Formats: sequence, C-alpha cells, structure tokens
Amino acid sequence: MESHLPLKVLLAAPRSFCAGVTRAIQIVEACLERYGAPVYVRHAIVHNEHVLREMEAKGVIFVEELSEVPDGVPVVFSAHGVPPSVVRSAEERGLPTIDATCPLVARVHQEAMRHHRSGCQVLVIGKKNHPEILGLLGYLPAKECQVIGDIEAAQNVQISMNQPVAYVTQTTLSVEDTGQIVKVLRKRFPKLIEPRKETICYATANRQKATRAIAAKTEAFLVLGSPTSSNSSRLTEVARQVGCEKVRLVPEPDELNLRWLDDVSVLGLTAGASAPEYLVQQLIDRLAQSRSLVIEEVPVTEEKIHFRLPLERFPKTPQISISRSPTKSQHRQEGLHRNKHSALSQELLA
Ligand code: SF4
Repeated sequence: MESHLPLKVLLAAPRSFCAGVTRAIQIVEACLERYGAPVYVRHAIVHNEHVLREMEAKGVIFVEELSEVPDGVPVVFSAHGVPPSVVRSAEERGLPTIDATCPLVARVHQEAMRHHRSGCQVLVIGKKNHPEILGLLGYLPAKECQVIGDIEAAQNVQISMNQPVAYVTQTTLSVEDTGQIVKVLRKRFPKLIEPRKETICYATANRQKATRAIAAKTEAFLVLGSPTSSNSSRLTEVARQVGCEKVRLVPEPDELNLRWLDDVSVLGLTAGASAPEYLVQQLIDRLAQSRSLVIEEVPVTEEKIHFRLPLERFPKTPQISISRSPTKSQHRQEGLHRNKHSALSQELLA
C-alpha cells in the first residue's frame, strides 16, 4: 500500500554534471557531427550507463582497447585520461585522436610529473584500478610512485631513505577520507610536498559539501549515479558519515522501489557529476505519482566553471576504413550504423 505521508525532498545543489563531463560529452557530440557515426571512444566516456546508452544509440562505439578500433578511424579518449603509451599506440597506428581528458585530470598529470622531475617519490592517493589512476601512473616510472588506497597503506608505505616525498590524488575521492590519509602521510613524512593546487576537483568537493549540508537532516538519502562512478559512490559514503542511515545509490529512477520510502517524510536527493539532471527530474516525477511533494533546493555554492572544447585540435581529414573484422562491440552496433557508415565511406571516396 502506498504511503500518504507528504514527502519533503531536500535537493542538494550543486549536483549532476560537472564541467569536465559536459565537455567530454560535447566532444563526442562534435565528433559525431564532424565525422558521422560510428565514433569510437576508448573506455566509457563518463561513468554513467544512461549517458553511454544514449550515445550508443547515436552511433558511438565504446571499446576498452585501441586494437578494437578500425584503421584510420578517429578515436576519443575518455574524461578519465589515458597513459602516454596509449597515445603512442594510436600515433603508431595513425589513428586520429581527440582527447576528452578532463582538464583537471590533466592538471594532476602535470603535478605528478613535476614532482617526479624534481626527484620525488610520488604517492598517488586513489583507487588502484580506477581508469584515472591507470592513466596517471602511465606518466611515472613504476619505481618512482606508489598508490595509496587507504589509511593502512599510508601507515605502511616504504620510501627509500633521503628521497623527498610528494603526493597527488585522484580527482574524485572523498575530501574527508583523503584528509585523513594525508594527515597520516604528513606525520610519517614531515617534509611531505603538497600539490600546488588541490587535486580533488571542485565538482567532487562541492557535491560532497552539498550532501554533507543536508543528509543529516533527512530520513533517507538518494544519490543518482552509476556504481562505476567514483564521485557518486563517494556521495553515498558522505551521506552515511553525517548520520543518515538509509542511503541508496540509484542508477535509474525506475530502479527505485517506492516502498523503500513508505515511512520516510524527509528525503535528501542528489546526483553524481556524471549523472544527467533529467534523471533527477524523472525521479521527482515518479515520486510525485505516489506522494504529495514539498521540494526545497539547498544551494551551498554556485559553480561557474566551464571548459572550452578543443575544436582546433580535432583531426581534419580522417581516412575512414571499414576493412577490419568487426569486434564484439561493433557487432552490437552494426545494424544501427551500417547505412550511415557506408554513406560516409562513399562520400570520402568520391
Ligand atoms: S568530476 Fe572533476 S575531474 Fe572528473 S570530469 Fe568532473 S570536473 Fe573533471
């Protein structure tokens, strides 16, 4: 039976897309417009299934390895960044590339390389297998860096005597948890060298701040976002840390069983930096079908950051080739793109 309790919804602000995600999506859209479908993207352009499915429907093919990209076809690097070895492989194959790495991820690459050039052992605070960390590690010799995933790793990390120590972080970590790790590192290495600029990005920090501001006042808290999204997962942790016991990460509005909210009268709601705002609106529409809603947006800060598209760096005349055997991902897309693709190939041959 549906609850007839009115439901107050505290909407966190800011929430949803950040400047880096917006830019990455716009880059792929610009590629679709300029080159036609299919457009290849190495790795999920951003970590949101909804966004990926929409892009696949428009003719984007996501691959994990460059070997899955046919010769001569432009390939986009995802917002998480790639190691230089991937850039070199693309060059060796003559693949035109478009880099959608978030400028703030690229800034962490620069910070890490600067530390390395000045002779430091670089401690990389982050999740070992996250694509952002895999990309970043590619800029550093393996012996000169170590990944610190948690406090225990910070307590146990060994550095060779007399080598200066510096750190950088993944952009999408918990501000609070990372602060604890850095505290341990500072204690162990009193001359620890800090990044010149904060390496947890503004969007991650702001969304956590907004969650922190409201979650303690709510009986339940929902984060719209994919389980693969680091910053979305961190928001659920923040909501729990400030005392909300009923917290859930919801990839799609339809996936929420509304019975879960039956005894709830105050709900907190936010969306990770890779989750589109329209999912928030869809969820609110769903809630409104069974409850009378009072919606209150709680802004903690205003975001004015926008990143320019690197349009001038788009390769001008890609040579489209469809001579390679289709990969698994291509098979999935084949029906959808066959007509467009052959039309484009013919146009280029004409
Ligand atoms: S979450 Fe931060 S680092 Fe990641 S794409 Fe957005 S702005 Fe860039």
